[in-house]
Amino acid sequence: MQPTTNKKILLNEVESRKLLKKYGIQQNEYGFAKTKSEAKEIANNLTLPLVMKVVSPKIVHKSNFGGVKLGLNSLKDVVEAFDEINANANNFGVSNIDIDGVTVQEMESGVQELLIGVKKDDTFGNVLVVGLGGVFVELMKDVSLGISPLSESYIYKMVKNLKGFPLLDGYRGTERADVPAFVEMIKRVEVMVTEEDKVEELDLNPVIIKRNGDGCLAVDVRIITRA
Ligand code: ADP
Ligand code: MG
Repeated sequence: MQPTTNKKILLNEVESRKLLKKYGIQQNEYGFAKTKSEAKEIANNLTLPLVMKVVSPKIVHKSNFGGVKLGLNSLKDVVEAFDEINANANNFGVSNIDIDGVTVQEMESGVQELLIGVKKDDTFGNVLVVGLGGVFVELMKDVSLGISPLSESYIYKMVKNLKGFPLLDGYRGTERADVPAFVEMIKRVEVMVTEEDKVEELDLNPVIIKRNGDGCLAVDVRIITRA
């Protein structure tokens, strides 16, 4: 755990994923490695292709630091990615002492990338945000907001009100996505932030939503708590 400003603490990926697990919020398979040989050992127990990501209290947006390597298909790729991730972090001014290690995780594919966010507001309490990931949120600001407590029917409404919803709903013969699993995940996130009152901010981005019946998985999580 690492202090940020205003006595806020950015949980690392391992701590954040433990909290997701506690509340039954589905995530992809992963392990945490401090060394290259640990990374190889984890990789041996996962299904290819893999992804590796830097774990450092100094790095919030990992891809901006060259800290995310996708599509690793062999142990050789894993070894190379380990060195590259460390070198990239060093080049961005993060020294080895501030690099805890890497996560090695399964690469997932699905129908779309989505996001779930929560911010604790002094007036409203927990404000939940859902949306489609990538350009939809960056360019189109395509998100729906809801203030906890949320009914299941309101959560459905939040998802269906997204401009990009047709992309989850079989638009032009594309695959239908598992919207009920996404709604269930939003409900569980709401339970988590209600029970864990120290959680100030949460971002699951992306959540990869699969075909109807195949569920959805958080593959990136960022949680900020109060000290
Ligand atoms: P950050 O948001 O800190 O830059 P992410 O973990 O979100 O890092 O990774 C950046 C992008 O890489 C994601 O938005 C997603 O498109 C892709 N990605 C990350 N992890 C996975 C994964 N396990 N499977 C598939 N794609 C992934
Ligand atoms: Mg992310």
